[in-house]
Amino acid sequence: MPLHNFNSGPSILPQEVLTQAAAAIHNFNNTGLSILEIGHRTTHFVEVVTEAQQIVKRLMGLDDAYEVLFLQGGATMQFMQVPMNLLDENGLAAICDNGVWGNKAVKEASLFGPVKVVSDTADKKHTYLNKQLAIPENATYLHITTNNTVEGTQWHQYPQTHALLIGDMSSDIFSRPTAFNQFDVIYAGAQKNMGAAGVTLVVIKKEILGKINRQIPAILNYQKHIEAGSLLNTPPVFSIYVSLLTLRWIEAQGGLAAMEKQNLAKSNLLYNTIDALPAFYCPIAKEDRSIMNAVFFLTDPTLEAPFLALCKSEGMIGVKGYRTVGGIRVSMYNAMPYSSVEAFCDLMKSFAEKN
Ligand SMILES: *Cc1c(COP(=O)(O)O)cnc(C)c1O
Repeated sequence: MPLHNFNSGPSILPQEVLTQAAAAIHNFNNTGLSILEIGHRTTHFVEVVTEAQQIVKRLMGLDDAYEVLFLQGGATMQFMQVPMNLLDENGLAAICDNGVWGNKAVKEASLFGPVKVVSDTADKKHTYLNKQLAIPENATYLHITTNNTVEGTQWHQYPQTHALLIGDMSSDIFSRPTAFNQFDVIYAGAQKNMGAAGVTLVVIKKEILGKINRQIPAILNYQKHIEAGSLLNTPPVFSIYVSLLTLRWIEAQGGLAAMEKQNLAKSNLLYNTIDALPAFYCPIAKEDRSIMNAVFFLTDPTLEAPFLALCKSEGMIGVKGYRTVGGIRVSMYNAMPYSSVEAFCDLMKSFAEKN
């Protein structure tokens, strides 16, 4: 039985990437060594990092005002590393709390300076995005989660602000052409749309650094990582290599425009199917629906367990909603083929007919 991997993260990667990564474990670039055995300061690996940085900038259309870093600690570490590097008692972090991840960004930033939650959508269980943000004049930065992985909302147009703009793009990075240059910091854990777990992409506009009064430990200091060319200490070599393979794959497919075309085709098919079947409903405001993670429910909640059991028996992996949200969540990252979403929609239709 073919498996369809709808996991929310770590999640599906392109087959070509898996094949190439497997080959590199035995013999990396004809060195006779495994990618797991090469030194991180060898030319071989420095070339990997450099190429990955170049592709990131090319895909994002960013110039040398920005630096690309591959760090550790996940997107979760960025919840504290961003404020540690950018926020002090004289500043203010304006943060959108539109779900599980934005909420964590609020809590961590509060350890480093004043925080104002400029959008809290808990009143409607985070099923929409509030775009009317009152951002205080003295705000240092505005932090948004561009795609709310757990709740299934996504910013399709970013808020305008006089403050710096910080984006947690963990779950929609490289899924569409977008205004990357509106941001001063972009970060994303690799395991959703970019590569193997263990590395976090951080893209920073250099000029924003060094403006606060705080001693920052070197390992948490963006400036030190920039000066070290993202090789301050031993980086997660294999995760960065798999990210490079995925970045190459994205370019070979036609870049972000091609990704978006495919992602829209998949998500339109799924949302249209949900909306057409009375057995299912999606509570997310239509204009805010995510093209990466679709969150929806069975109209009759007693049918949820049988539907999930059917999904399991048909090889549909990872479609159970997040534990605090419930329902169904279907993640359709870049590597997910259209045919998998089609197979899932066919299953929904046949389930709806029989129940
Ligand atoms: C998965 C996710 C995170 C957490 O990432 P880790 O790498 O596990 O720390 C943070 N933000 C968003 C939007 C996510 O989807």
